[in-house]
Amino acid sequence: MTFAYKIPECQTSPSDFSTMGGLSHVYFAQTWFDRMIAHVIAGLPNEACGLFAGTGEQVETLYALTNADPTPQSYLVEPREHFQAFKDSREKGQELLGCFHSHVRSQAYPSMTDVRQAAYPDWAYVIVSLQEEVSVVRAFRIVDEQIREISILVKDISVEDTGSHVR
Ligand SMILES: [Zn+2]
Repeated sequence: MTFAYKIPECQTSPSDFSTMGGLSHVYFAQTWFDRMIAHVIAGLPNEACGLFAGTGEQVETLYALTNADPTPQSYLVEPREHFQAFKDSREKGQELLGCFHSHVRSQAYPSMTDVRQAAYPDWAYVIVSLQEEVSVVRAFRIVDEQIREISILVKDISVEDTGSHVR
């Protein structure tokens, strides 16, 4: 099952990342992107979350995980599942590239809490806003409490669909 979504055009110039390092965009296979949207919709009325791994800028594995702090305005990737995803991605020769979570009643933009909790400056933080009928998906880097939007590209390619659920 697929759900309607839109990805607004990213306003940040790639050159803004020249001194930051890390990702300036992130590529999802359609399969993983659809699964991410389905997971956050399944988590309603609370926020839902997960991680993704890959090589370079390409997402190769999506981990749809448990929200250990399930409310409509908070999330915490369940720590053991986070560790399992870390191990699994390493065994596949990949690395964790980022995290996704939903905003149930607000825009696809990092909250103050999201900014404070952003522990990984290299990660892409993907936020799926479910406040409208059509989900809005945007991605950000959060470095030293500064927010930079990065582009999301969804590619209609087939992926090996293995072990995306750690649970
Ligand atoms: Zn948030």
